[in-house]
Amino acid sequence: MKRRIFLGRGSAALAALSPLAAASACEVVPAAGFAPPPTLAPIRAQPDRLIDIAVCTRPFRPQGPRIEAERRAGRTIVHNYGHGGSGWSLSWGSARAALPLILATREPRIAIVGCGAIGLTTARVAQRAGLKVRIYCKERPPEVRSSAATGVWSPDSRLCAEEHATPAFAAAWEAMARASFKTYQSLLGLPGEPVAWHDGYVLSDEPFDQPVPGASGGQGHSAEPEYAELEPRIRELWPRSQLLQAHEHPFPVPHVRRYTQLVFNLASYSRLLMDDFLREGGEIVQREFTSPRQFASLRERTVVNATGYGARALFGDDTIVPVRGQTARLIPQPEVDYGLLWRGHNLAVVPRRDGILVQAQGEHDFGDDSVVPDRAASEAAVLRLAALFPPQAARSRA
Ligand SMILES: Cc1cc2nc3c(=O)[nH]c(=O)nc-3n(C[C@H](O)[C@H](O)[C@H](O)COP(=O)(O)OP(=O)(O)OC[C@H]3O[C@@H](n4cnc5c(N)ncnc54)[C@H](O)[C@@H]3O)c2cc1C
Repeated sequence: MKRRIFLGRGSAALAALSPLAAASACEVVPAAGFAPPPTLAPIRAQPDRLIDIAVCTRPFRPQGPRIEAERRAGRTIVHNYGHGGSGWSLSWGSARAALPLILATREPRIAIVGCGAIGLTTARVAQRAGLKVRIYCKERPPEVRSSAATGVWSPDSRLCAEEHATPAFAAAWEAMARASFKTYQSLLGLPGEPVAWHDGYVLSDEPFDQPVPGASGGQGHSAEPEYAELEPRIRELWPRSQLLQAHEHPFPVPHVRRYTQLVFNLASYSRLLMDDFLREGGEIVQREFTSPRQFASLRERTVVNATGYGARALFGDDTIVPVRGQTARLIPQPEVDYGLLWRGHNLAVVPRRDGILVQAQGEHDFGDDSVVPDRAASEAAVLRLAALFPPQAARSRA
């Protein structure tokens, strides 16, 4: 089954946002036991309120993340990279999967190369296991690619090609996803809201059991694989989306479902990870490696490779495919606490604390390693969003 979920006419895909997958399924759950939603604060969707546009490449490997050890340059290298569009979501579980490989070296001090989602969480898990950790990295947050992500729970987004999703892989994925999910629940309710649950609304011109016109799925990159759909294995972990009646939502579209979504406020969450790491004696050293041979000069004899897309150049891993993605932020509106997915209009909105995140997919993201921002694309997405908040309606809601 095609894993890509098409939001736009043409090939705009937004598989990174898992509630849409649930919402596009044929299952219909009526909104029972709910009061009508409170009035929703309108989003001030104006291109001149865009404060940042960020681009990064998902480090996609058809065979899924690489979590294994090898000997090189007199060091044990524990690889932990290649998490596609699921790096934040799977990070804690992936770190736990790498931990036995690290502990097997019996080294009390380890090096981690990389300070993104994977490096930081692997560092924290290793610290909690009693190890002394030093991170070496070219960039740290907010410059790392992880900082440009959407920031939602999307544990099987562009993670693995369907043909590689063996039962063993699926079971390992499930263990990672469950471990990550559990850790994220322990990070709720903290100052700065690093992790939070929010409601959101999937909007659609067509009934949810009908395809979006023009969204055939056939116009992407010819090499783009069918992505493995693994989420049903853990679907009981969070609430199902619910079909709403017209009087239960304020949106000018005929079909609406409400979902509930785990959101990572990446600015405060990255800061929390860094602070915790440093407070527990971790060190960060700015350093770029051009060859794994340079690891021989490190004083640590166990080196975790958490370089994400960087592993393609550093380790010559040509199986990593860049999948470009762009996120843009509007000036924060703390009163906006809901997300949006507009099916058929290539638009997703996440109510992050560092800004209202607006995302649209490009036509040719798969295989594209360009990190040059396309401001016109983000402005166009903001204008599509504005159509949901006509001035009259916005005034009456305010
Ligand atoms: C648009 C977009 C939206 C996304 N949304 C989500 C989402 O909502 N939820 C989710 O779970 N995932 C999402 N992802 C996927 C997620 O962002 C990635 O899987 C994750 O960032 C990978 O993290 P990482 O730590 O492996 O890599 P990175 O963040 O790239 O970190 C790599 C680290 O290694 C360092 N490094 C690299 N090469 C070298 C070198 N040669 N020498 C020294 N240091 C080096 C870098 O400086 C950096 O510190 C999204 C991705 C994109 C593109």
